[in-house]
Amino acid sequence: MSAATLAPTSTLIALPLACARCGRKQDAAPVHICQDCLGPLEPVYDVERRLPTPEVIAARPRSLWRYREWLPFTGEPVESTDTGWTPLIDAPALADRLGVARCWIKNDALSFPSLSFKDRVVSTALNAVRAFGLDVVGCASTGNLANAVAAHAARAGLPAWIFIPESLEQAKILATAVFGAHLVRVRGTYDDVNRLCAQVADRFGWGIVNVNLRAYYGEGSKTVAFEIAEQLGWRSPTAVVAPMAGGSLVTKVGKGFREFQRAGFLDSTPRIFGAQAEGCAPIVRMIEHGTDTLVPERPHTIARSLAIGAPADGPAARHTILESGGWARAVSDVALVAGIRLLAETTGIFAETAGGVTVAAAASLAASGHLSADDEVVLCITGNGLKTTDAIESAIAPSPLIEPRLREVAALVA
Ligand SMILES: *Cc1c(COP(=O)(O)O)cnc(C)c1O
Ligand SMILES: [Zn+2]
Repeated sequence: MSAATLAPTSTLIALPLACARCGRKQDAAPVHICQDCLGPLEPVYDVERRLPTPEVIAARPRSLWRYREWLPFTGEPVESTDTGWTPLIDAPALADRLGVARCWIKNDALSFPSLSFKDRVVSTALNAVRAFGLDVVGCASTGNLANAVAAHAARAGLPAWIFIPESLEQAKILATAVFGAHLVRVRGTYDDVNRLCAQVADRFGWGIVNVNLRAYYGEGSKTVAFEIAEQLGWRSPTAVVAPMAGGSLVTKVGKGFREFQRAGFLDSTPRIFGAQAEGCAPIVRMIEHGTDTLVPERPHTIARSLAIGAPADGPAARHTILESGGWARAVSDVALVAGIRLLAETTGIFAETAGGVTVAAAASLAASGHLSADDEVVLCITGNGLKTTDAIESAIAPSPLIEPRLREVAALVA
């Protein structure tokens, strides 16, 4: 594979980076770790930049790029400009079941084009690929990121190399391979795959969206917060519950709300609650045990999209959650299946395993008093249930089979 690069697009420019730990600044580049202290790099926004008003934003096209002043580029985005702006659904029956004042579903199960919130992060990462003139894109994935990178790369006409752990849901494998991506299964866990991808990025000079492009990738998740705020009429809910794998989504949702408060769009910011499966809950354990040292785990859960045992943004997620006044909760695989069904039966939304984790964690947080009767809660449903049907197969009773005769229907109805 050639390491030659295409000419960078002329108008799209990636923002420079700074280390979140030691503050060291550096030029925009496909790197994500500080040379001095190995801390994570983040894009640096010009504090003097012109910000739009809510009215100006509201008049823009319905995509995540309507918030472009808070995304890590200057100039025009060139790829995936139609991702984002998923529905925020009022869920009164679920609010009743949880015992909270209001409940909404941020429904990224309908995200375009690949039916998970990973479309957002790939949308920003792919523009970084273009800004840097890279000619191959890739990722280490627990499933949804593989789907998103493969789909977005296909429409951009970029070759994609995608690395996944050996045991993933069949639907997620098919919904990657169909786009013509190079899909490679790796013997080991996600954390083994991620380590391999760091070496791949160095050796081949590719844009690995969640490794060397991570600083640009993560910013896409802030748009979940931006959209919730705008869809609620430029105000904040009191609480947001979101699932955690690498811990990036939760961290960036917190950052997004704070940025909109700083812009003067919001009076307050929500308490942020993180959800994981008991079989892989290193971030929840950190919070429960009151430590900032992350102990890696070997994942064992049907929530495969969340099965990251050594989450890169674990400490940042913990900090975001505690600073916001929130908390975290782990739920069993049995509880997450019940969560998928509770969401489906009360809202008509079919979520994947990660959504079941979020709903079950919200129920558990409500039961323990972390969410109360005055709370206005948004649940982040991040992926589509049609990708993880195997998770609920055994929980669904078989349907009756009848002859095409009315009396057989009558017998069932009775
Ligand atoms: C990746 C993923 C998450 C968590 O994302 P992080 O940013 O890594 O914490 C949540 N839900 C779904 C469905 C995902 O695919
Ligand atoms: Zn540093």
